[in-house]
Amino acid sequence: TQLIKPRIREILSKTLPPELVNLLPKHWVQLGDVLILPLREELLPYKYEIAKVYAEVLGVKTVLRKGKIGGEFRETNYEIIYGNDPVTIHKENGILYKFDASKIMFSPANVKERVRMASIAKPDELVVDMFAGIGHLSLPIAKHCGARVIAIEKSPYTFKFLVENIELNKVQDRMTAYNIDNREFKGENIADRILMGYVVKTHEFIPKALEIAKDEAVIHYHNTVPERLMPREPFETFQKIAREHGYESELLESRIIKRYAPGVWHVVLDIRVFKK
Ligand code: SAM
Repeated sequence: TQLIKPRIREILSKTLPPELVNLLPKHWVQLGDVLILPLREELLPYKYEIAKVYAEVLGVKTVLRKGKIGGEFRETNYEIIYGNDPVTIHKENGILYKFDASKIMFSPANVKERVRMASIAKPDELVVDMFAGIGHLSLPIAKHCGARVIAIEKSPYTFKFLVENIELNKVQDRMTAYNIDNREFKGENIADRILMGYVVKTHEFIPKALEIAKDEAVIHYHNTVPERLMPREPFETFQKIAREHGYESELLESRIIKRYAPGVWHVVLDIRVFKK
């Protein structure tokens, strides 16, 4: 990899004005055979030439221009600037993740959490993943912990890949997927463990999580939190809402996943909830 950057610069210095060569991206994300490239405004007039060179040097079939993630489904909407097939199979920690990288997020910064999930549950647990995506966090649980998993994903497009991934990873015997809004899910008092891998509005889903939880359960509660409110938040809000629904909460562990915005962190809290 040491030689890749000089090689790319050398090739592109033949096409690009000299002052732009220094602006070429030095970091990128490769997921399977798709490359996600952050490109500054100044480079946009040359985006196709740039993408072609990165693709050839790095040996990928498709290059996407990195953009913002947004909306209810946390969609990426990355522009295709080389090739025409944004669907890829990315292998991580023994799991195959198939997805459309131009539409569906797969954050390299969440890798530790995906790996942590691979040893979090016991085989006799029932785990409910309320925001399953393509199975980011729950495939490792089904595959490596051998626990039973119910995965709920609202977006029909993302759901299609979730179902494929369950088959690709051969966990059909213990993982079931539902293409519904998790608030429509009917199971009550069934889960030993609940994954809430969502941001910004996760607190709105706490009552539903408690309905799904057994009288005692562990909830992996993700949310975004302004730094000035840490470390009290987001636990205090969780605890308050849980009390209103008849549950006590014990904070087992809290971790920072990544910076979400300036002064705002994406965190995950492991919370034991129990009925008094
Ligand atoms: N949990 C994974 C992770 O942490 O890597 C994926 C996270 S992704 C940010 C959140 C997923 O939740 C998206 O695929 C989105 O479509 C889905 N989602 C959002 N609201 C939902 C809801 N009310 N019910 C079910 N799924 C929902």
